[in-house]
Amino acid sequence: MRIHWHRTDLRPSDNLPLVTGEDDPILPVYVFDSRVLAHAAPPRVAFVRDSLTTLREWYRARESDLLVVRGEATEEIPRLADEYDADTVSWAEAYSGLGRRRDDRVTARLADASVETRTVHDHLHHEPGSITTNDGDPYSVYSYFWKKWRDREKASSVAAPGAARLADPGVETPIPTLDDLGFDDPEATIPSGGYEEARHRLNDFCSGPIYGYKEARDRPAADATSGLSPHLTHGTVGVRTVHDRVVRAREAAPDETAREAVETFRGELAWREFYHHVLHFNPRVVTENYREYENDIAWRDDPAALQTWKDGETGYPIVDAGMRQLRAEAYVHNRVRMIVASFLTKDLLIDWREGYDWFRQKLADHNPANDNGGWQWAASTGTDAQPYFRIFNPMTQGERHDPDAEYIREYVPELRGVDADLIHDWHDLSPTQRRRTAPEYPAPIVDHSERREQALTMFERARGEADD
Ligand SMILES: Cc1cc2nc3c(=O)[nH]c(=O)nc-3n(C[C@H](O)[C@H](O)[C@H](O)COP(=O)(O)OP(=O)(O)OC[C@H]3O[C@@H](n4cnc5c(N)ncnc54)[C@H](O)[C@@H]3O)c2cc1C
Repeated sequence: MRIHWHRTDLRPSDNLPLVTGEDDPILPVYVFDSRVLAHAAPPRVAFVRDSLTTLREWYRARESDLLVVRGEATEEIPRLADEYDADTVSWAEAYSGLGRRRDDRVTARLADASVETRTVHDHLHHEPGSITTNDGDPYSVYSYFWKKWRDREKASSVAAPGAARLADPGVETPIPTLDDLGFDDPEATIPSGGYEEARHRLNDFCSGPIYGYKEARDRPAADATSGLSPHLTHGTVGVRTVHDRVVRAREAAPDETAREAVETFRGELAWREFYHHVLHFNPRVVTENYREYENDIAWRDDPAALQTWKDGETGYPIVDAGMRQLRAEAYVHNRVRMIVASFLTKDLLIDWREGYDWFRQKLADHNPANDNGGWQWAASTGTDAQPYFRIFNPMTQGERHDPDAEYIREYVPELRGVDADLIHDWHDLSPTQRRRTAPEYPAPIVDHSERREQALTMFERARGEADD
């Protein structure tokens, strides 16, 4: 018997470690690992529970079942291997430092009990170390990584295991509630989980919206992106399935513009892999700057401003809309993530780690590779990051990407009756004009031009180029 340990691969098909080898029957297991839960938050746990429910139904329809347990994986996996007399345990490789340390401990415990482990690279098309510079080093510049990633052949998706290969654990294990696991209900409405939902999203997106992706992906009001991020994070869809479908969309593209849009989308899938490679080779980035400056960056300790940012009360409409979308939907549009991250680090001069921590608590799609990559990009501390002197102006960003203020009005009800021009000029209105226009909406908490200068000085000091 082989135990398959599901982690961030909550799907039956296109799951390489699940189908690998011939050592049947396969007993599927999920562990609510207390060490992992210590870093988790309600939106992600809710998404995982939802996804486990559909995965369990899939197994039950095949006279098998998903065994769901709680505890420390280092204890539970060896215990189950012993209880079910398994000779092998399989799982998909993890890329974070936390995940790899846990897997090393489980492997050692299993080896002591003479149980084999089979680990397979499954979450990425090209595993860390397989796309490198000519000297064999990992890339720190995305555009070079992309050229190799783009041209490298990709494996196709694999079918789910047949019912005959699956074992029945002989007991029914309930999926613990959020309360059982020590979490409150999420504040947000969480996107639906599960492999079927992922498949629908992928098909819907690739049947039309993908052809407008290049042009519309930066417009948060347009609903023009795939919405696949929680599914890719939790593995309710396999990367090969996504890519196969995207390639079919490219083959069916009506013209060159549509083909280019598909290629732009593939570029985002490559960013995901790039950041996973960065994390794999630099596990320290979850708490430290990737990029070293000569001096420490003198971030401000400003709890009141941080709270205002979290609450979406900064008086910068596009920033507040994004922060309120996060609270309402456990999701934020990519362009707006960039804007709110830039605002926290370059206007409020607050350390990116505060923002990363808030996103970790609030996003359903949080994963350390992409989240950290995004934050360190915006803070100019990451690999291939935004240069420190290129500072987003939140007013012009709002005007450019949400010209009719549709997105802003959706999440900031105080501005619903207000003309887009006034919304985008909010920073320049007089106090009287603001009171007359939208009395409930706050005045800007900082002056962007002043803060921009202070941010430049902060970075120049860190670079050793300005006096204290
Ligand atoms: C500060 C910040 C924090 C972020 N945190 C996360 C996070 O925790 N989890 C996460 O999945 N993404 C994160 N991103 C990247 C990006 O914002 C989301 O992946 C995207 O908004 C998800 O929406 P979508 O699935 O509709 O994306 P689409 O535009 O449809 O893209 C398809 C997929 O490509 C990947 N992708 C897209 N953009 C990026 C990117 N810039 N970097 C890496 N991968 C990308 C995602 O897996 C995404 O699902 C972050 C970006 C920033 C700037």
